[in-house]
Amino acid sequence: MSTSRLALVTGGIGGLGTAICLRLSELGHRVIAADLDARADALARFHERTRAQATSIQFRALDVTDHDRCREQLTAWEEELGPIDILVHAAGITRDQTLRKMTLEAWREVLAVDLDSAFHLCRHLVPRMMERGFGRIVHISSVNGQTGQFGQTNYAAAKAGLHGFTMSLARECARHGITVNSIAPGYIDTDMTRAIREDIRERIVASIPVGRMGRPEDIARTVAFLCADEADFITGALIPVNGGQFMSF
Ligand code: NAP
Repeated sequence: MSTSRLALVTGGIGGLGTAICLRLSELGHRVIAADLDARADALARFHERTRAQATSIQFRALDVTDHDRCREQLTAWEEELGPIDILVHAAGITRDQTLRKMTLEAWREVLAVDLDSAFHLCRHLVPRMMERGFGRIVHISSVNGQTGQFGQTNYAAAKAGLHGFTMSLARECARHGITVNSIAPGYIDTDMTRAIREDIRERIVASIPVGRMGRPEDIARTVAFLCADEADFITGALIPVNGGQFMSF
């Protein structure tokens, strides 16, 4: 049985983030759902979905691309709520374009949200976790970071880089009671994939051996598994959750 802890979930009001918040809360953890506060519709949907667990899940605005703001906010939240023992970094964006058309802005935006952010968060949280001798860090990478994808040089580079970051940090943290792992979701039914053209979505589903897109709960269960106190011998791993879409060893 895991101890009740304080978890920070970035991208916390997104499709995967909300499911992860709900699952961690069901397991008895308190959860900060950190996300941009730019979209009133997404925030309203999040509050609606988490209403029954509103005492243990709270929304806080955070832009993970802002290094100094991350440090200030995380410090303030820890002073107010106690130590953050669990970090699930699910904030992410896509800005798909083939390389020939890709703007520098699309490159930098994706690298900032999907990769630089891991440094901004971990740089602050890891030293404190080391002092306490406990931590669970889970980065949400992507199957497309493993395989590459047409139109996603920016996204695939960021997500592959995220797992490189995970493996290096896992080595630095291994003697301090902190595990650092990545999850590589395949295609999961959220706003991110609903934005894909219908005919392409159909082709994607046809290529998944299990015969369906994943559900946010498939990822949330895997996060919960990795965040358990007992999962202390799993570190530096990349866990694929993709319905068999990409198999490797
Ligand atoms: P989503 O619903 O779009 O959620 C991502 C969340 O991150 C959104 O709420 C988004 O806010 C937020 N975000 C964007 N920029 C941010 C910033 N600068 N600071 C803080 N939060 C920010 O997407 P999802 O499907 O849940 O994806 C979650 C993670 O899983 C992402 O890292 C994604 O790359 C990864 N993933 C998803 C799939 C999939 O099939 N869905 C597959 C593989 C990997 P806005 O909506 O306001 O931009």
